[in-house]
Amino acid sequence: MVNARADSTREAWLTTLDKFRHDRDRPASPDMWSPRLDAASRDELAAIQSEKLRAAVPFLYENSPFYRRRFERLGLLPGDFRSTDDLGKWPVVDKAEMMADAAEHPPYGTYTTTTDEVWAKRGWMMFSSSGSTGAPRVFRYTHVDREAWAWANARALLAMGFRPGETVFMLTGYGPHVWAWGVQYALAKMELPTIPGGGMDAKARANIILRLKPTILLCTPSYALHLGRLMQAMGHDPAATSVHTLFLAGEPALAVEPTRRRIESLWDARIVEFYGCTEASPHVGGYSCPAHRRESSPAATHLMEDIQVWEIVDPETRRALPLGQRGLTVCTNLNSESSPQLRFLVGDYTTFDAARCACGRTHLRAIGSFAGRADDLINLRGIKMFPVQIEDAVRALPGTGDEFEIVLTTDGGGLDIMTVRCEHPEAAAGGTELCRRLEQEIRSRCEVRVAAEVLAPGTLPKTEFKAQRVKDLRRKS
Ligand SMILES: [Zn+2]
Repeated sequence: MVNARADSTREAWLTTLDKFRHDRDRPASPDMWSPRLDAASRDELAAIQSEKLRAAVPFLYENSPFYRRRFERLGLLPGDFRSTDDLGKWPVVDKAEMMADAAEHPPYGTYTTTTDEVWAKRGWMMFSSSGSTGAPRVFRYTHVDREAWAWANARALLAMGFRPGETVFMLTGYGPHVWAWGVQYALAKMELPTIPGGGMDAKARANIILRLKPTILLCTPSYALHLGRLMQAMGHDPAATSVHTLFLAGEPALAVEPTRRRIESLWDARIVEFYGCTEASPHVGGYSCPAHRRESSPAATHLMEDIQVWEIVDPETRRALPLGQRGLTVCTNLNSESSPQLRFLVGDYTTFDAARCACGRTHLRAIGSFAGRADDLINLRGIKMFPVQIEDAVRALPGTGDEFEIVLTTDGGGLDIMTVRCEHPEAAAGGTELCRRLEQEIRSRCEVRVAAEVLAPGTLPKTEFKAQRVKDLRRKS
C-alpha cells in the first residue's frame, strides 16, 4: 500500500511538472524563451507555484524518508500546504540538517526522492555538493531532471544573449558539479556549438582560444583572471581575442565591482552570471538580466519563479522577511523529480525586487546580485565581514596582483588577528607605505584593524579553479 502511494504521488508530480513546461523545445520569441512564463503576471506565477506545491508536497511525504520524519516531527500533513502562503509552516531546511541525514543514511541520505529502483530504471547523473564544509552531499538525478534542467537553463541562456553564431568554450573539468553539465545540456537543446575544455591545462586552453576562436568562455571569475594573465605572459592580448562574453559562476563576480572591472577590461568582454546551488537543482536559480546596464544601476539577477519559490529570511530567526528587506535566500524547488526541496536555505545575502523589469520579465530580481554566502562570513572578534569586502579593498590599491589571501590566526595573548596578503610589483621598495594604504582601505570598508603584507609578484599560489581566499588557523577554544 505504501508503495502504491509513493508511485501515485510520483505520477501526479511528474504530470504537474510536465503541464507547466511550456515551449519545451524551442523559444517562442527571439528574446524570451517562453513569454507566457517569463512575462506572466505575478498572480499567474503565484497560481502556478501553488498548483505545483500541492503536487510536490505529497510526493515528498511519500517518497523521501527525510521529509516524512520532518512532517511527523512538526505534526503536519501534506494537506496543510494548499498554497505558497502555507510555506511559513515549514521551518527552513539547512545544509547541516542534510549533512546529518547523509551521515546517518550513507551514502545518499534520504532527502532526495530517487530510490535505488528509480535510479536503476531512469538514473541520469550523480552530482555532489562541493563539500567545502563537512561531508559532501550526493544527489542522484534522473532523465526527467535532465530535460527539465536543459529547458530551464536554455530559457536563462537565451535571456543572457546566447544566440546562433556563438561557440562556447567550456573551461571546466567536468567533475560532479551541476553548473557546467546543466549548461552543456541546455546548449545542446539550443543547438549551439561547444568546445569541451576538460583535461587540459591553461596553456592548452589559451592555444584553443587563439586557434579555434570561441566567442563565449564558461569559467569561474578566478579562472578568467588566471587565464587572461597567462595569455599576456605568452605575449597575447586577451582583449584582442574572439571572446566577447564571459559566462561566470562559482564565485561572486558582478557583485564585486573592482573585480568585475578588472576581468572585463582584461578580456574586453561583458560578464554574465548564473546563480544557484546543487541542492535546488536541476537548473539555474538566477541569471543576469539582459536589460541591466552596469553604468547606471547595481547588478540585477533574475530568478525563475514558475519553477522555484524564492524567499528572503532573517539570518537570526530564519523567518520570512517582507519584500525589499535584506536577508538570506531560501528556495523551494518545483522543477525536479529528484530534489524538489521545500524551503532550502541557500543562504546568500541579497534583496529582492518584484517590479516588472525593463527586459519585460516579471520574475523577482536580486538587486546587487549575490555578494556572498552566510557560510563564508568571517567573524573576527565579533566583527562580521565577507571575503568580498576584503577583495574590494585589495583591488582598490592600484597595481595589486590578482591573488590575495586572508589569514586568520591567534596570537600569544589569545587574540584573533587577521592578516591580508597580496602582491605588488613595488613590494620591495614601497612595501611599508603600500601596507599602510591597504590597511586603511580595509578599515574603511570593514571597520576592523588588520595587518597587511605586500609581497613580490608570484609569491602567492595561483588560483586554477575556485579561489580559496581564507585560511582560518585560529585556535579554537
Ligand atoms: Zn530583466
